[in-house]
Amino acid sequence: MSRILRVNMTDLVAKFEEVPEKYKLMGGRGLTSTITCDEVPPTCHPLGANNKLTLATGIVTGTSAPTSGRISIGGKSPLTGTIKEANSGGTAPQKFARLGIKALIVEGQPKEKGKFWLLKVDKEGARLLPADEFVGKGLYETFPRIFKKFGQDVGVIGIGIAGERLMSMAGICVSDPENRPSRYAGRGGMGAVMGSKGLKAIILNDKGGPGVPIANKEVFDTGRKKLTAALREHSITKPGGALNTTGTATLINVINEAGALPTRNFRDGRFEGANKISGETINEICKQRGGVGMTGHSCSPGCIIRCSNVYPKPDGTELVSVQEYESVWAFGANCGIDDLDVTGELIRLCNDYGVDTIEAGVAIGVAMEAGLAKFGDSNKAIELMHEIGKGTPLGYILGSGAEITARTLGVVRYPTTKGQAMPAYEPRVIRGIGITYATTTMGADHTAGYTISPEILGVSGEIDKFILEKADLARKFQHTTAFTFDSSGHCLFISFPVLDTPSALEGVVEECNGVLGTSWTADDLIRMGKEIVDRERAFNEAAGFTRAHDRLPEFMKYEKLPPHKVVFEVPDEELDKVHAP
Ligand code: SF4
Repeated sequence: MSRILRVNMTDLVAKFEEVPEKYKLMGGRGLTSTITCDEVPPTCHPLGANNKLTLATGIVTGTSAPTSGRISIGGKSPLTGTIKEANSGGTAPQKFARLGIKALIVEGQPKEKGKFWLLKVDKEGARLLPADEFVGKGLYETFPRIFKKFGQDVGVIGIGIAGERLMSMAGICVSDPENRPSRYAGRGGMGAVMGSKGLKAIILNDKGGPGVPIANKEVFDTGRKKLTAALREHSITKPGGALNTTGTATLINVINEAGALPTRNFRDGRFEGANKISGETINEICKQRGGVGMTGHSCSPGCIIRCSNVYPKPDGTELVSVQEYESVWAFGANCGIDDLDVTGELIRLCNDYGVDTIEAGVAIGVAMEAGLAKFGDSNKAIELMHEIGKGTPLGYILGSGAEITARTLGVVRYPTTKGQAMPAYEPRVIRGIGITYATTTMGADHTAGYTISPEILGVSGEIDKFILEKADLARKFQHTTAFTFDSSGHCLFISFPVLDTPSALEGVVEECNGVLGTSWTADDLIRMGKEIVDRERAFNEAAGFTRAHDRLPEFMKYEKLPPHKVVFEVPDEELDKVHAP
């Protein structure tokens, strides 16, 4: 029987509660967003006592379902002011689920300012312990010390110094299978919310835990096998397939070829150095340098796709895990840097300070636009990252995200929606993802509706990237994502076979039915996805957001992007159709 764990940081009390009937069939984003809607006043300050941080694993997380080790972390975002959900892999999500925790709600704030705590959860219960010895240090120092103190087989969810300092680009870090601080619920500043609660880390020991009950094992197994078979067959997800060999950064050359790789703060759609930072080059370097370098690494146990990597220094020792598409792009093409050793170092610093790589890379691109460094200046980019680590006034500005950086430095062209930096797809070229950026409940977020699948990759059919009439496409992807991936507990990358192979979608439905004892159909999953998005939109509306916020930056409407020489031509009426009643 799973329970809700509620931790009050004012009284320093952790107690278990029964799961209300309403939440019993929910998981992941569906649950974090519903609890946020039920318990958080939409107009509250995101870093004040009335916001709450909610963590919930997906419905099938902790079972043997493939590629399903995800945890959602939600609340009101200090970066966007909207509702927020960011999810992560790593080892902690499965331990969280196997401890029988349906959701963890962190509320209140410590009476003593600047005081931080650890939350330790095991089969005996949950308790708060002082975190003084772990405060003010980088995560590459903190995580090993936590593992040394609590055992190498615990799972850790924690924040770095950016989260302690309440910087709006702070993410929440989750330990990977080798106990690195490398997996992130990165977006939207949820690390600052955790910091505002005085919670430094959550330590999960699932030894002797109750595990995840499965109501109908036969149905669950049927679904699990169908999804596993589809993942093993699809060209993108199969062992030896694109994601497994060249990782997500395989997209660098693909998106560059499409003329949609944002370059030098979204001034160009092609980067002359793209191949030098591509997934293919990462793979080659891992082979050439040897040592610990590898592709085909897994971020969490039970992943079939294994898209992660460990990137080596020239001597074969580890520089960083992981160099993935968005991060390599943010510090690479977006800052005019064509050197993987430099992008690797910048990603390592993000992992150490505890910040979102997309927000950090775009903020540094904006700082370059402002003249604080020249595009392509690797040393200056590293220096700017160190400002965040040192907590200088400039570091606080950068750490507040790309939009605050732009406003402070007088930059007019900055690529954000609802305050959140855009990821690595140019919306002026790929119009469906532009509509998604504009209309998600979370600010610019490719994972909220990954229309790149049909617009670029030919998954679930092929749709011309330049077509403007894509409200239906964006809506369909947002509704599908909210439940089928973000609430089931699966990594978004199962979407490739799920969109292409009917048996893969059946598999996800049957896995959920097997765990919960429900009789859902694929249509039910879409319906519940729509309900989640509608609930999130209602929260945003009550927080003061209107259709006027469902827009892309003005400069994208008049500044023609090379090489296609196009602007974002999608009319406002098309954007408003996405969530029209
Ligand atoms: S596909 Fe990649 S990101 Fe997703 S769970 Fe597997 S290793 Fe992690």
